[in-house]
Amino acid sequence: MKYYYDSIDRLARYKINAVIFEFEDKLRYRRRPLVGAPQAISMDEMAALTQYARERHVEISPLVQGLGHATFILKHEKYAPLREDPESRWAFCPCDEGTYEVLFDLYLDAFDATPGSRYLHVGGDEVGEIGQCPRCKPRADKEGKLALNLYWLRRVCEFAQKNGRIPIFWDDMLFKYAGVWNTMWSDFEPKEVTQLWEKGEPILDSVLEQYPKNCVYMRWNYTLARQEGNIRALEWFKKRGLKAWIATAAQNVHPLFPQDDRVNIIQSFINLADEKDIDGMLCTAWDDSSPHMETYWRGLIASGEFSWNPGGRSLDEFEVAFLQREFGPECVDATHLYSELFQAVSFWNRALCEKGNRRRIQEVIGLPDPGDPGEWSRKNEERLEMAVAEAEKYLRLKAQLAELMHKSRRNRYHLEIMSAINDFQVTSAHMLLVLKECDSSNEKKRSKGREKVQYVLVEFDIAWKKLQEVYEKTRFLSYPEEYVQDRYFHMASRTEDLSWMVEVEEQFHNKVRTWLNQ
Ligand SMILES: [Zn+2]
Repeated sequence: MKYYYDSIDRLARYKINAVIFEFEDKLRYRRRPLVGAPQAISMDEMAALTQYARERHVEISPLVQGLGHATFILKHEKYAPLREDPESRWAFCPCDEGTYEVLFDLYLDAFDATPGSRYLHVGGDEVGEIGQCPRCKPRADKEGKLALNLYWLRRVCEFAQKNGRIPIFWDDMLFKYAGVWNTMWSDFEPKEVTQLWEKGEPILDSVLEQYPKNCVYMRWNYTLARQEGNIRALEWFKKRGLKAWIATAAQNVHPLFPQDDRVNIIQSFINLADEKDIDGMLCTAWDDSSPHMETYWRGLIASGEFSWNPGGRSLDEFEVAFLQREFGPECVDATHLYSELFQAVSFWNRALCEKGNRRRIQEVIGLPDPGDPGEWSRKNEERLEMAVAEAEKYLRLKAQLAELMHKSRRNRYHLEIMSAINDFQVTSAHMLLVLKECDSSNEKKRSKGREKVQYVLVEFDIAWKKLQEVYEKTRFLSYPEEYVQDRYFHMASRTEDLSWMVEVEEQFHNKVRTWLNQ
């Protein structure tokens, strides 16, 4: 809770005036106590935080996921009959009244936990599988899945209105049903976009009277935002008299650290929204791969900066201002720190994977064959070149972080997290470099290399332990024993502690140890 309170102060400093707080199972619901996890925040604690935030001009409103993203509810056997697909915990059945009984109870608790706030975010994204159960199928066949989805949306929006709250809804399902979703993310040929929208827009319009009018439609896009489809979607809402706001992202789904330049991405969508007269901006901070909250701050601050003044600072000017505000005027030279660290972590993410990365580990890389020295290094030439560069960069970053730690006037915990991440990510590059020595045709070098592999294994153990220690200052590292497992495809759902973060290392290091003993 202390970290939440400190975070409110920090948000207020940057004039961020609202928070959408996705509770999932981290609120100790009273009407549906089964849904709250054992370590959940009590409703009174949450109401106190909401009051504290309001005094600092930050309004906290709840997000309670519905229709899809409902594993935290539907994982419980008690609620299994409400699943659209009995085998999947993901989505509610929109035609079962029981769905609304559960959701409305959770909403009421969420209102009590955020007294006086104006909004209720109902989620509604990435639903996937409705329209297939015996209750829904006839209706979906007759009216279509879009209408079925809008039925759910109308019900929850009516409930919000009755309780004095303005509903907010992620908009993706509308465009998925209309067949234009991909035009919002990828660079299609303009002609192709036009064709898809010529087909899609009549589908969207066919149920025009069914879109709730009191709802805010949240156009979310986490990439550079000028895709033709993204622009058309904003224009479609406007043409149809529906209120749209935009959502950018301080973090996409990357493990450990954002792995692209979030500030650039956030600025681009806010600039577009400004051109389109959009008056509400949200910056999401997703934890699919559960990075530390500190890693979101640069994005959140950028969102505050550009939302208030889209045509204000340039990206370079932002970086300097950010460093000054966060750490002090002595720290403004570290303008490459974040871009270098996100590139380093991006290499760590795939360094030991033959195919894929940590999100979808398909295969870890092979090891040198003493019978065919040099072959492994040839095969991994590009990887090894990058490892050399990363190992050098690591030292630069380490020195810079140490200097910042010395000079900074505030937010040293942020630097501690950055340092722990830096020391942790480089172990993959170090491992590759010592394995290269094991691939030498020189017998002496090979045996020295094998000795160094042992050191890198120890280096990893120390860095991993340190990372967990730093994380643990502000978050729980594992669920308590009585926690009902909530497994789905998000990385952070794979295990009940942080061990999913090092699945690749565990796999690869076991392979290395066996290889060393051969
Ligand atoms: Zn159904």
